[in-house]
Amino acid sequence: MSIKAFPEIDGVRALAIPLPDFGDLLTSNIYVLGTGPVTLVDTGPKYPGALDALGRMLRAAGFDFPDVERIVFTHGHIDHFGLAVQIVEAAGHPVSCHMHRDDSWRASSEYLAGGFWNDEVMDFVCMANLPEPLIESMRRRSDFFKHFADPLDDIEPMEEGEVFSGEGFRLETVHTPGHSPGSCCLFERAKGVLFTGDHIIRHITPNPIMETRRSLLSDPDYQSLRAYEGSLDKVDRLDARFAFSGHGEYIDDLKGLIANYRHHHERRKKQICEALAGGRRHIYGLTRELFPDLPEHEIFLAVSEIFSHLEVLVNEGRVERAQEGPPALFRAV
Ligand SMILES: [Zn+2]
Repeated sequence: MSIKAFPEIDGVRALAIPLPDFGDLLTSNIYVLGTGPVTLVDTGPKYPGALDALGRMLRAAGFDFPDVERIVFTHGHIDHFGLAVQIVEAAGHPVSCHMHRDDSWRASSEYLAGGFWNDEVMDFVCMANLPEPLIESMRRRSDFFKHFADPLDDIEPMEEGEVFSGEGFRLETVHTPGHSPGSCCLFERAKGVLFTGDHIIRHITPNPIMETRRSLLSDPDYQSLRAYEGSLDKVDRLDARFAFSGHGEYIDDLKGLIANYRHHHERRKKQICEALAGGRRHIYGLTRELFPDLPEHEIFLAVSEIFSHLEVLVNEGRVERAQEGPPALFRAV
């Protein structure tokens, strides 16, 4: 794990800790804001040695856990909030924790106890026509991931436009749903720095993960790719100088990267339309056709990606659902 050094910006320190077991994400990036008591943006996941690694980096930056007075989470995935409980314990005093309400339920004891597997996920994988053995291995894998986070039930909901400030910094909340429904970027307007979480990442195209629990969201008609594309437009308009993401290197050509993402989505939509020109397909069949060599552990994300593109293609009138299912069948219009 070695990434290009972050630019020096007053009042902003970037700590990149190793991220084992999370594929090609490279690092987990935690940002320290302020000069006195500090605010953290994200915490990284819980794994043996994670708290020690973060503590060493924090002390090298001139702080320690008792200096942490607030944690703001870009979104509710375990690799962004998993270590929070241990950090709060190490701080030794109350630390306010903030996350958008469309994601905060993901950090709850109830949700984590289920190991990310629930009836809605089961309905989705059946609708997508995933084979039974694959469903079983996904269920086991989802159970494994819950160990990367301690549940966090005491979270304050954060809203679009909410400001978090302290000595030497002022962060504005920009709700950017898509990667997850409650994903937020945080904008340091005076410094032109945008903290993007997993909405924008330098070395990979973030997946607008389909949401199975739409009934819990402020918009029950939420569609991940449609939301993601709207959030890209929103971020594009901010004209940020640097983007500091949740994983990997910083970004100094945000507009170029956003253009690449849009191009990637259009190309994927075209591939799906071409495959459907050959006849009706279910989601798993399409996924296998587009990604024939995919390792088993990446299949859920790929199926989710195909589904989120199908939703947008249906909105655009280029594809229709030929059979409700399960399994659902799609065809070109
Ligand atoms: Zn992440």
